[in-house]
Amino acid sequence: MKIALFSSKPYDQEYFEKYNRDYKFDFTFFETPLNQHTANLTKGFEAICTFVNDKLDAKTIEILAKNDIKLIAVRCAGFNNVDLEAAKAKGIKVVRVPAYSPEAIAEHAVALILTLNRKTHKAYNRIREGNFSLNKLIGFNLNKKTVGVLGTGKIGAAFCEIIKGFGCEVLAYDLYKSDELIAEGVTYVSLEELFKRSDIISLHCPLNEATRHIINEDSIAQMKTGVMIINTSRGALIDTAQVIDALSQDKIGYLGIDVYEQEENLFYEDLSESVIHDDFIMRLNSYPNVLITAHQAFFTKEAMFEIATTTLNNIKAFKNGEKLLNQVV
Ligand code: NAD
Repeated sequence: MKIALFSSKPYDQEYFEKYNRDYKFDFTFFETPLNQHTANLTKGFEAICTFVNDKLDAKTIEILAKNDIKLIAVRCAGFNNVDLEAAKAKGIKVVRVPAYSPEAIAEHAVALILTLNRKTHKAYNRIREGNFSLNKLIGFNLNKKTVGVLGTGKIGAAFCEIIKGFGCEVLAYDLYKSDELIAEGVTYVSLEELFKRSDIISLHCPLNEATRHIINEDSIAQMKTGVMIINTSRGALIDTAQVIDALSQDKIGYLGIDVYEQEENLFYEDLSESVIHDDFIMRLNSYPNVLITAHQAFFTKEAMFEIATTTLNNIKAFKNGEKLLNQVV
């Protein structure tokens, strides 16, 4: 079976080639992202494999259908970049990797909190330059702080468990409450109460119409001055312009993001020798209390193993006409 894998990086090729030895699919690795301008590369393939910043809008899906693509295997959990209605209308099945390692993302969220708070990235640079001063490196104890978790699915739940270990009070908001988390001492509250009481807010809900720009001028106004906001979920949960305003006014004290609304033009590329035509990211980069990572929360050996093997099993099930356990549409 011929599969075109888009947005391929050396590590994707390494993991897929290693585990494909047992499946023997015919993979072609395209570095380019998939979008309506590159969709014609899918000619001659039966299935495609895509990642977070491939743009599977109606136009792209129309070209995929014309090229006889039967399966879109998304090698991530989120599928907000796929027009599911369009895929369904064209009879193209969409499968995903629902949970490859919730702990990987939860642990990265905690890494962002600890780095922003204790400024280890700055201490590292200072000491390499012979600067052993502690001036301005002061942090705060996590112990007894209130942490608000928005979305307590697989990643949010893993995050709750870790952060409770620091002795934090954990408030949560989700459409569904988890009895297990309640038993572990997590308190579900209204969104308003979570915004009002939290010292740190970590976002773990998916991006959809209800959650787009959930962090905006109005929600920020309800928060404590100096709040820390962590987003390892999807960039558009945050209204970037309004968050920048709140950083300028010292309302938001710390911002840690692994995802960014306009990341598709930046993340996963080495642009160090280019002029970056994105004023928001340049502005965010200028704040000392902002920490940005380029959508790397998933990037552990364990997660890459799960991504490769689950995707290969998804494709195998499709090829054999078996039930698609991880089908989205
Ligand atoms: P999940 O489906 O297990 O959990 C999502 C939770 O959000 C569910 O409990 C759901 O009820 C809740 N939710 C949905 N709508 C909500 C709303 N309006 N308000 C509050 N809660 C709501 O998903 P997950 O595996 O925990 O992943 C969460 C998100 O993390 C994904 O959607 C994806 O965008 C992101 N993610 C990021 C990375 C990364 O590398 N940075 C990797 C994987 C996933």
